[in-house]
Amino acid sequence: MVPSDDRVRRFNSTLSLEGIAASSGLAIGPARVLDTRRPGVVHRRIPKHGVQEEMARFDEAVAVASEELRLVADHVRAGAARAEASIVEAYILMVEDESLREDVERRVSIDRQCVEWALDTAVREMADTLARSKDPYLAERSHDFEFIGDRVLRILAGQRGTAVLPDLSEPAVVIAHDLSPAETAGMSREKVLAIVTEVGTRTSHTAILARALEIPAVVGVQDILSYVGSSEQLIVDGLSGRVVLAPTQDMIFEAMARAARHSAVTRGLRELRDMPAVTQCGVPIHLQANIELPGEANLVMLQGAEGIGLYRTEFMVVDPGAPPSEQEQYETYRSVLEAVAPLPVTLRTFDLGGDKFTSLFPASMDANPALGLRAIRLGLARPEMFLPQLRAMLRASAHGSLRILVPMVATLRELRAVRKLLETARREVAAAGHPQAEHVALGIMIEVPSAAVVADLFAAEADFFSIGTNDLVQYALAVDRTSRALATLASPFDPAVLRLIRMTVTAGDRHSRPVGVCGAMANDPLGAALLVGMGLRDLSMESSGIPQVKEALRRVSLAEAEELANRACACVTAEGVQQLIADALAPRFADLLGA
Ligand code: PEP
Ligand code: MG
Repeated sequence: MVPSDDRVRRFNSTLSLEGIAASSGLAIGPARVLDTRRPGVVHRRIPKHGVQEEMARFDEAVAVASEELRLVADHVRAGAARAEASIVEAYILMVEDESLREDVERRVSIDRQCVEWALDTAVREMADTLARSKDPYLAERSHDFEFIGDRVLRILAGQRGTAVLPDLSEPAVVIAHDLSPAETAGMSREKVLAIVTEVGTRTSHTAILARALEIPAVVGVQDILSYVGSSEQLIVDGLSGRVVLAPTQDMIFEAMARAARHSAVTRGLRELRDMPAVTQCGVPIHLQANIELPGEANLVMLQGAEGIGLYRTEFMVVDPGAPPSEQEQYETYRSVLEAVAPLPVTLRTFDLGGDKFTSLFPASMDANPALGLRAIRLGLARPEMFLPQLRAMLRASAHGSLRILVPMVATLRELRAVRKLLETARREVAAAGHPQAEHVALGIMIEVPSAAVVADLFAAEADFFSIGTNDLVQYALAVDRTSRALATLASPFDPAVLRLIRMTVTAGDRHSRPVGVCGAMANDPLGAALLVGMGLRDLSMESSGIPQVKEALRRVSLAEAEELANRACACVTAEGVQQLIADALAPRFADLLGA
């Protein structure tokens, strides 16, 4: 129940608010409200001769902000979420970014704005551009820019000191409008029972960090600050995304029982880490992890991943004006390969364009950006950007086991063009005297229906296939993957999608090409069991999903999964398939499906 118009709530009356489940687990405890609001911004015109002085204030504030963030990065590196120090390091780059300084300087010297005003406008414009992105990850980055702006504004207003970490004398649930990654990363599980924020999504850094720290979290709880007071008792349910204020005694007992059940399941799953991923009858299934940040590479190994099945490298492009250099990319790829060696890593080339970074790629003004100049189409149109990426990948191949994966391939012509560029990159790397692996497999994402339909043609020329069910569903069913209204239509269990998967598996088998799945279907215990029944043996997913999927597959025999898959492929609707699988497996997976 979310109250609509009546903002007045009597203290101690039970209220349940819905948000987004961001990090699993349940917590019961007192609230600690954090004031993370930004300081007010003065709008003052400065005289012509004041420009230099004003910019000196900016430079000094930026220097202080970087120094503070460096301290936070050191603190994070020494703590439980050390792999996430790269997030704080990215902040340091953002705050020191030359183009931000130029933007501020232009406003100060031409518009005669005081530095607070200039910075606030510059940051706001950047954040707005990002927030309009349909890509949830990029939209979320707008908060990062706002955070950086806030840090510098606070310093200009004379508020120094590292991130506003709560000083908790007793364990509490931290409630805030928003938390920066720096603030979240500094929290400890002993002191912070749970985190609740008014904004954020499952892919926000706060959510990623909360999962890394294993702190239950619910984000996107609109207006919770207007309902909750410090010390008020709460239940935070990071499984369902619900926050209950002033719960009754019965509710507390029920939540405690659920918390105990959840801890028992988590403990059990953790013990599974070193157990093999096999079906009940012993057939091995390779479970790998999808990552977006290089720092995640260490964490995925802790979840028992057998390597990285998908590294979405486009998330490295933080500054649309300047994609990372070949050297920066090489160092990043190398660090990821070394973190998981000798296990394999699949690096996907930039899946950019479409609705992402429109200022960098004006051609994505296409009427339908999802169908426009994006991903490999963009890579082939911009070899000056694509070749350095291929060279960086080849150079990294000397440091582990690497495969290259190409997104959004629709025609054989594209694969051939990529192969040609890869050969060029190989020659250039050799000419520059860098070592590289003798053979690097080149595979394609199967996410455009045309690629699945002619998978037999692709199988003759691609070294492997990775099925991206997220986009395959979008393109096969013509449903925008970001549309909430159409979410129920976008089912990977749709017969059309199952047929495309089956065609791909058949073509791969016939040509002895490995076929894997790296879309979200693999992350769902029911979806994973169906995929195994359809012949898949390589599944890649968000690392936190690996223990559940492993446990689920250990409870199903291959014969049973195959029989279920055959019956599923004969169903005529997505609902029919879902019902069939749920009837067969949901009771057995009840503890894993977050009962
Ligand atoms: C997919 O489309 O299924 C996929 C794994 O890629 P992304 O989600 O990055 O588009
Ligand atoms: Mg995709």
